[in-house]
Amino acid sequence: MKLESKLPGTKASIFSVMSRMAMEHDAINLSQGFPNFETDQKLKDLVTKAMNDGYNQYPPDAGIMELRELISQKFNNLYGRYYKPETEITITSGATEALYNSITAFVQKNDEVIVLKPAYDSYEPSIKLAGGTPVLVQLKGNDYQVDWEEVASAITNRTRMIIINTPHNPTGTVLSEEDMLKLQGLLKDTNIILLSDEVYQHLIFDGTIHQSASRFPGLAKRSIICGSFGKTFHNTGWKTGYCVAPAELMKEIRKIHELTTFSANHPMQRAYAEYLKQPEHYLQLAAFYQEKRDTFLKLISGSRFSSKPSKGTYYQLLDFSEITTEKDTDFAERLVKEHQLAAIPVSVFNINEKDHSQLRFCFAKTNETLEKAAEILCSL
Ligand code: PMP
Ligand code: GLN
Repeated sequence: MKLESKLPGTKASIFSVMSRMAMEHDAINLSQGFPNFETDQKLKDLVTKAMNDGYNQYPPDAGIMELRELISQKFNNLYGRYYKPETEITITSGATEALYNSITAFVQKNDEVIVLKPAYDSYEPSIKLAGGTPVLVQLKGNDYQVDWEEVASAITNRTRMIIINTPHNPTGTVLSEEDMLKLQGLLKDTNIILLSDEVYQHLIFDGTIHQSASRFPGLAKRSIICGSFGKTFHNTGWKTGYCVAPAELMKEIRKIHELTTFSANHPMQRAYAEYLKQPEHYLQLAAFYQEKRDTFLKLISGSRFSSKPSKGTYYQLLDFSEITTEKDTDFAERLVKEHQLAAIPVSVFNINEKDHSQLRFCFAKTNETLEKAAEILCSL
């Protein structure tokens, strides 16, 4: 058979590659972003209860109303924006599905989508599958700041969407209020949709406030905001997320949602709906992960890696230029094969895979794992 790939340039995801290598070499896995500690037993019990109570068939396609109501309350309480549970909130199979649906619903052939690089690896293939063209804008300097003038000059009459991600994977930077106001100004009087990936909304440190697109009226009216319960509640394998957007946008997103998965899994939705009733379950996360970040940085303070503390997410970038001149991909491979420690080379997320001698480490790990990893890092 003669087959033609729809994504000829797209390689296997670095997350699968590195996690597989970590397994093969029995390495400590600080590559793919997931916790190695257990999700709350209460939450597991709630899933079991939901199964035993008979919630084992399809839920409503947009998700169970109780969960949508709680998400609505959460946005209202945290960011002062009301989303109607009936028409403006949809539960998805992880944020990945929400992102894919949003891009598929609106990006048409020859449309352009602005993506800030380095970027999470699902955005560009999804844009290309929809027939669109990713327009890449590099974040600037060690701090990975957005150059809004460059973003402005990337906007054309074919720009359909811009994707932002705050707190940002892989760099651990966050957008400020000033950034969001600039973006709001740029998009005013355009038809551009903002796709705001906020899966790390609660993982934000040093007292910084998460600048959700929903806080800004001029952005909220054109924004689709994606979230992930997997990230928030330490159960990435449950693959449950959501998106919120004004009804006219959500109407189109739901059409794609019905085609891709129809609905997200039912017992998990029941469990999250119960668990979300206690806001401390997510409000305590910032302090919890800040302590992990600080522990990790303290443990490696004697090493030859240099770093700026991550401002959000559960990733820490480390610069290894004092250790080796190897490419980051080669160093990551050697690290896992010779030292049994897996990390993510940042170049894979950059324009033209530009290498800045940086690796990304996930610190959502037990202190014991962080200690073992740090011992290796300090020996290099
Ligand atoms: N966006 C970003 C920036 C991510 O890091 C991830 C990985 N969790 C996702 C989206 C996907 O989230 P989920 O696991 O809920 O599909
Ligand atoms: N978001 C996770 C990361 O950045 C991985 C998600 C995935 O494996 N696709 O590591």
